[in-house]
Amino acid sequence: MYQMPLPSHIKNLTPQASVDLINQHRKELGNNLVFLGHHYQRDDVIQFADFQGDSLKLSQLAAQQTEAKYIVFCGVHFMAESADILTSDDQAVFLPDMTAGCSMADMADLDQVEMAWEDLSQHFPNMSKVIPVTYVNSSAEIKAFTGRNNGICVTSSNCRFIFESVWENDPEATILFLPDEHLGRNTAYEMGVPLDQMPLYDPFAEMGGITDEQYKNSKVILWKGFCSVHAEFNVEQIQEAREKDPDVNVIVHPECGFDVVQAADASGSTAKIVQLIENAEEGSKWVVGTEINLVKRLAQRLEDKHIQVRSLSGKACPCVTMYRIDLPHLTWIIDNIAKHFKDPENTKLYNQIRVPDEIKEQARLSLDRMMMITQAATSAT
Ligand code: SF4
Repeated sequence: MYQMPLPSHIKNLTPQASVDLINQHRKELGNNLVFLGHHYQRDDVIQFADFQGDSLKLSQLAAQQTEAKYIVFCGVHFMAESADILTSDDQAVFLPDMTAGCSMADMADLDQVEMAWEDLSQHFPNMSKVIPVTYVNSSAEIKAFTGRNNGICVTSSNCRFIFESVWENDPEATILFLPDEHLGRNTAYEMGVPLDQMPLYDPFAEMGGITDEQYKNSKVILWKGFCSVHAEFNVEQIQEAREKDPDVNVIVHPECGFDVVQAADASGSTAKIVQLIENAEEGSKWVVGTEINLVKRLAQRLEDKHIQVRSLSGKACPCVTMYRIDLPHLTWIIDNIAKHFKDPENTKLYNQIRVPDEIKEQARLSLDRMMMITQAATSAT
């Protein structure tokens, strides 16, 4: 993705001047503008968020802000795509820096996935028994592939519900899980699927590097992809944390490797991590295996409750692509939107995320199925 260089009148602003300009434009734009900020964003960006949350929650919230013509998504590319898929045609979604992508989403491109589907069709005589399930951290094209092949999207919060519904519908079904091998493996294992029934499909190996026997026995075929942030956590860090303080609780995100999740005291989505720690006993201590901005903010918020929170890793583990959304880019995009609002005829809009209609329609199928199943599962509990 190409990001045009920032003009000098924006680049040369002091941080305070940027903040003032953003606030001035927010007043001018009123309810026409909404800021969405992902949990992993840096502090000087998240301070402006009208809503803060995970990617799907933010997209759903964006769709509810029907007055907002302009939606600025402070997150990464696939998140802004999801917002564009879920919002109306009258709403425009912007990403302040087009190079803010996701290394995990990039690990499954459409050509590779189509080829994998072809490989699978040679091993499964009835392809209606193979259900593609994609993590929401994937491109709109992969969500569309999933939608048109009778598949479903998942988040880290509802992955288990979705797997359960696939197998309730057809106990013989095999899931092709994209693009994060760890979330797929950790979820299926927790549900009792043995590791040897979850072969790993490598898009760079012949037939995905999976033997005929493994295809035959598979319950979940995992795509070889991972999150570079969560891959930084390891079992040694957990051992070290416990050696330093045996009372510490270790909680990690299910995008972490299998061994890490097994060694931790608990694992869960960002929402679950926040909820568990916020409701923990006063004086409890937590080490957390997820993105550093979220961990730091949680630690600050809970200081008064005397709950200690720190990262599992001694090194900061920010998502480098998320980090590309910074104050100058945010200022630039708001300035551009404000100019367009005043003079739409003569102002070109930059960095609008537009998912083509056909892809939108098919991707929406996989998101709608997910929401339907999740709502049914949560209202039944
Ligand atoms: S934290 Fe990982 S999955 Fe999330 S956007 Fe960054 S690279 Fe992608």
